[in-house]
Amino acid sequence: MSSTRLPPSPTPVVDVHTHVYFPRYAAELRARSSAPRILTREGADGKPEERLLILDGEPGSGRPVGPQYWDREEKLEFMKRHHIHISFVSSANPWLDFLSAERASTLAQALNSDLEEYCASSPEVDGFPGLRSLYGFGLLPLVPHVPISSVIQTIEHIKTLPHVSGVIMGTKGVGNGLDDEALEPVWKAIESAGLVVFIHPHYGVDGQAFGTKPNGHVLPLALGFPFETTIAITRLILAGVLDRHPNLRLLLAHSGGALPQLSSRIASCIAHDPVVAKRLKHDARYYLGKLYFDAVAYGSEELAFVSETIARAESYSAAGGSYNANAGSTRMLFGTDHPFFPPLEASQRWQSVEDNLRAIRDVRSWNESAQADVLGLNALRLFSLKY
Ligand code: URA
Ligand code: ZN
Repeated sequence: MSSTRLPPSPTPVVDVHTHVYFPRYAAELRARSSAPRILTREGADGKPEERLLILDGEPGSGRPVGPQYWDREEKLEFMKRHHIHISFVSSANPWLDFLSAERASTLAQALNSDLEEYCASSPEVDGFPGLRSLYGFGLLPLVPHVPISSVIQTIEHIKTLPHVSGVIMGTKGVGNGLDDEALEPVWKAIESAGLVVFIHPHYGVDGQAFGTKPNGHVLPLALGFPFETTIAITRLILAGVLDRHPNLRLLLAHSGGALPQLSSRIASCIAHDPVVAKRLKHDARYYLGKLYFDAVAYGSEELAFVSETIARAESYSAAGGSYNANAGSTRMLFGTDHPFFPPLEASQRWQSVEDNLRAIRDVRSWNESAQADVLGLNALRLFSLKY
């Protein structure tokens, strides 16, 4: 693997996985005395420093948090440094999950307006007239006891925001996961609004499985996050959500976690289980071709594998379809997960970003046109942006 810097791309580079905490949200976290929260402590240099505590049983005292999470200039500077033309920003976890229904609804409305303003007034992209540097995924007040009418109202509000083209959501729904019947009207409204749903983990899996050794954030982030997504989307498929809403556009964080690797096993378990064997319209592997996957996998072989599972999906259609070698690179989209995974040593260069860019360039089955799709053209198509 070479460590030379990659040349800038001649086609647009679009980051679909990049986060913000708007000042209003950071204030909410600062006002709290238990996680999720932002606390101030004395740093190694004796000066006060802010720390972010968001994960359950977070090791140590969380991680440093600062302007890279809320300052738009820092986001734009980061984009410039890595030759990223456009970012689709989303609120970072844990979104509104910890709030009361009433507070979540009020804050969703305010944060979605903040997002529209943040994006609408962002600079136009150099060399790609008509495009702005920033667009976004809004928030829904998905918390227990929220009236579904409030969630629908928020979707209606988002529809009026020209630079907000989707919503980010965790895996809890309104308390019972994404396979909850209560969410049916929500899927329906999102589908008919044409919004893209970015499904992102936060809770991981039962932390006891990770033991007690001091492994920092490695196990919850490397394994817990992707397994959470895998479980959530498998439940969603099993509940028939994708059968009932074939036009729902779901973008999965971290390349769908372990879903591609486990999809044949899931299909086999379904086929051998009398409770679910006849429930779905298609073999489980078919649905992978209806999903979108970010390309935040850090390795070319992993991207190639996800691409293959998308390519074969249509051949699992109940109507009989065929393998489409090009399908994978039309459903995978570059992302960075900024501002998470910063370089450990002070450096201009974010290894996490360079790894994801290089991985896209190194997928053997992707020619230049497929790479350009994954780097940005797929995102422009998904969000109906033209240049
Ligand atoms: N990436 C995220 O989006 N959230 C985290 O908490 C850590 C990494
Ligand atoms: Zn993320």
